[in-house]
Amino acid sequence: MKYCTKCGAELYDEAVVCPTCGCPTDGYKARSSKSDGKDMIIKIFMIIGCVFSGFGFLLPLAWTIPMTVTVCRRLDNHEPIGTGLKVCTLLFCSLIAGILLLCDDNSPEG
Ligand SMILES: [Zn+2]
Repeated sequence: MKYCTKCGAELYDEAVVCPTCGCPTDGYKARSSKSDGKDMIIKIFMIIGCVFSGFGFLLPLAWTIPMTVTVCRRLDNHEPIGTGLKVCTLLFCSLIAGILLLCDDNSPEG
């Protein structure tokens, strides 16, 4: 048994409205706040945020790893490295490595 917060009348536990004064009980408030869908919207946006931050982390990784492999292989074989790749290295992978590559005069395409 619970009691009405307004008039103090005895209520059934599952009552959503007080039969004496007609005001909504605590159970009614809890149920209405659950059904307004805001919780669901918050959950959806948080899941979308997680997915996007996951992509934001994985996408550069998928970029920089092949880039690093390519640059390392070309440096080992003394092959020329294009300016585009150097700039990409500077921007996305490593600022210092990119500057060093751009300053490198050994590659003919420089
Ligand atoms: Zn009441």
